[in-house]
Amino acid sequence: MAQYTPMIQQYLAVKAQVPDAFLFFRLGDFYEMFFEDAINASRELEITLTGREGGAEERIPMCGVPYHSAENYMSRLIEKGYKVAICEQVEDPSEAKGVVRREIVRIVTPGTVMDSKLLGETSNNYIVSLVNKEEGYAFTACDISTGELYTTLLPDSWELVMDELNVYSPSEIITDKQLLATIRESSPTWSRNTVMTEWTQADEKLLAEHFAEDEALPALSGLNRQGVALLLAYLKETQKRALTHVKHIRVYQPDQFMTMDPFTRRNLELTETVRERAKKGSLLWLLDKTVTAMGARMLRRWIEKPLMSVSRIQERQEAVDLLYNQLIVREDVKQALKEVYDLERLVARISYGNANARDMVALKHSLQQVPLLQEVCAASGSETLRKLVQGMDACEDVMSWIASSIVDEPPVSIRDGGMIREGYQPYLDQLREASTNGKQWIAELERQEREATGIKSLKIGYNKVFGYFIEVTKANMASLPEGRYERKQTLANAERYVTPELKEKEALILEAQDKMVDLEYELFTELRDRISRHISRLQKLAEVIATADVYQSMAAVSAAQHYRKPEIGEGFDLHIEEGRHPVVEAVIQDGSFIANETSLEDAQGRILLITGPNMAGKSTYMRQVAVICLMAQIGCFVPARSARIPIIDRIFTRIGAADDLIGGQSTFMVEMMDIQVMTEKATSKSLVIIDELGRGTSTGEGMAIAQAVIEFLHDRIGCKTLVSTHFHELAHLEESLAHLRNHCMAVKESGRQVTFLRKLIRGAASTSYGIYCAEIAGLPETIIQRSYELLNGFEERAAGAAQIAATAERPRVSQPAVAAAAAIEPAAEIRQLSLFEEDSPAHAVKKKLDGKSQLVLDQLKGIDLINMTPLQALNLVYEWKQKL
Ligand code: ADP
Repeated sequence: MAQYTPMIQQYLAVKAQVPDAFLFFRLGDFYEMFFEDAINASRELEITLTGREGGAEERIPMCGVPYHSAENYMSRLIEKGYKVAICEQVEDPSEAKGVVRREIVRIVTPGTVMDSKLLGETSNNYIVSLVNKEEGYAFTACDISTGELYTTLLPDSWELVMDELNVYSPSEIITDKQLLATIRESSPTWSRNTVMTEWTQADEKLLAEHFAEDEALPALSGLNRQGVALLLAYLKETQKRALTHVKHIRVYQPDQFMTMDPFTRRNLELTETVRERAKKGSLLWLLDKTVTAMGARMLRRWIEKPLMSVSRIQERQEAVDLLYNQLIVREDVKQALKEVYDLERLVARISYGNANARDMVALKHSLQQVPLLQEVCAASGSETLRKLVQGMDACEDVMSWIASSIVDEPPVSIRDGGMIREGYQPYLDQLREASTNGKQWIAELERQEREATGIKSLKIGYNKVFGYFIEVTKANMASLPEGRYERKQTLANAERYVTPELKEKEALILEAQDKMVDLEYELFTELRDRISRHISRLQKLAEVIATADVYQSMAAVSAAQHYRKPEIGEGFDLHIEEGRHPVVEAVIQDGSFIANETSLEDAQGRILLITGPNMAGKSTYMRQVAVICLMAQIGCFVPARSARIPIIDRIFTRIGAADDLIGGQSTFMVEMMDIQVMTEKATSKSLVIIDELGRGTSTGEGMAIAQAVIEFLHDRIGCKTLVSTHFHELAHLEESLAHLRNHCMAVKESGRQVTFLRKLIRGAASTSYGIYCAEIAGLPETIIQRSYELLNGFEERAAGAAQIAATAERPRVSQPAVAAAAAIEPAAEIRQLSLFEEDSPAHAVKKKLDGKSQLVLDQLKGIDLINMTPLQALNLVYEWKQKL
């Protein structure tokens, strides 16, 4: 250390505070990076790596970015998931003794971004804290760009934590070392997309002070207090300021909302599509006709969290219903929302001291719209809308403060004046007059000088370095009288001069201008500070506006797409008459989508076993049922002629499209993992959807597992279930399972020509038409012919084999299938397979095993299956596979 120059020593001392962040170290007009940071930054930002003498023998690697364009570079690092600490000079260099004092003024992390370029307008940016004790997990999420803070206590179940993480998709998670490791282990994708920060210092005192006025604080559980305190301490440490806009703790219970696991959310394409991971083509994309960014974010939150309370859903429905039927009211609401800016983020910028005069004007415009919105909602005839705006605080005082102080079109910078209205402050007006008069005086001087010298092209100009000057072209220089003119600057074909009276006036003008700019800045920050004391009023208002926006959006889409209001109830039975898949229907556009009925009820069958060829529309149908339930529970109308929807507590889907989620894993294994979770968590109020149950392994095993799973759901869970399968042989289950009904997708056959009718009908399909599909895919005729021949042969033999299988005590199960099946409860029988018994055939194999395989087998023996999560099992199998 001692070998380095004092400045480098200072750098190293500051850097030691932020080992995991890039340190942007302010040196004059640049932010410099040194050592490792410099090497890494030059690579990530593609900027030149240089070096600098620093006292030691070797030059110190260095690279830098100009101060004025630094934000852009920081953004790029944040986007790549890095943290950036900004270190500024905190004393005037001219007054410093020795090295100028420098301090970190803010640490920007992916979870604490305020820069609007980095924030998606229509989505939140959350940072999440996790705390674990015996009573469960305190899960806290905060979006500092809007000031929202949510906290909940999750029962001691890791799956619920992962579900919740998936709802919020935080860009940063802070928690202890152990939990970080658990997250990384259970979902590799999280560690890829989310910054994980180890942080365990909660600050109880800060918590008590910060939320002193929030009535939610005293009611908070101990663990939640800890979770919020942890998050707050981290935010304080990184942001280095009081987060005055994070005002209110919103506590919720996980059972207030429908639960969906991450796969289900993806499979149903709620907020993004499976393939492109794009909003376009998702349910959110279809339903989003919001006018404001706040509304768009709220709609997304609603879709992520469908309600469980009938009365709350009905309350939303009531508003949507009215706006659906009353086009004029809907248009009025929309109109009122048009000029409304992103109040939430605006308010956050005010709290951060980042808001400029243009933000103020935007705030003013937004507030001006509020009375109109209030009036329209109050008079709408909807009880929900009336209550929404009842006693609403329109923040008229804030609006008039801005209106009276800020000009209509202020500049972006708040350091150059030109923001404050005339007549707002007498002294500012005086200074302005002095400066304006000064400028007039100069114009007059120019005229006089031209006259006195006879030089018509003489002019008076101004630049920052030399101030005011008189400019005369070289050709006219000779005409200038001697004496008064002092040469200042020589250009290629002109000379610039000053005179004593010009200098004197210049001093006056510049002084007035400096004072004016300073005073404007002062008046502006005063206004900003004043408004920042009213942040929670503005936030409440923002929420009302966003809610109204979501209602009008759902109503607009429902009307345009001819949706109907579903009847929501507590019972079991579900009926959908002429249901459609909202997104598929909208994408097809030509109205050719075929509607289908759905009845899931205790008496008439709550399990639909759907057979039918590929491409017949099975998975679209099953997703459609799930999506309709979800839409109903967010309060939206649904794509159906009529619908009666009971409250669904959980939707499980096991649909092929998520196969790519965990690279390298077999489809079958993933399916088994999902099904294991389902058997554990599903209740009679759940909706279970399984597409192509039992594929990915041999026919015999696949069918056996499929049947076992269906029986388990039927006998033990009693939930509403839609299962599609290509094993049309499973149709016989209808005879033994009272609550199961066979359905299939109708096809029309004429000769070898097959037409998909996309209509769900009672009964089972007799064939999969796989070869037909191969034919339309264009496979050579010889292959098609041969396939039909072979198929006939197989089917004859299968008829015989089925009889043998029926008498066998236990199915012959291959080794990988055992490991997979071990994870499912209902297949317990299979788990008892005697793999290690001395006399089993497997034992004979064991004798010949090599060392690696032996290791795997030993591990397998030692597994504590009961206490293992499915993902741990999956990871283990993956490891084994690598070893073998
Ligand atoms: P499966 O699951 O039986 O293989 P899909 O549900 O994937 O079939 O549907 C195949 C295609 O048929 C989809 O691309 C979809 O656009 C179309 N489709 C499905 N259902 C309908 C319907 N009810 N009306 C019109 N087209 C449909």
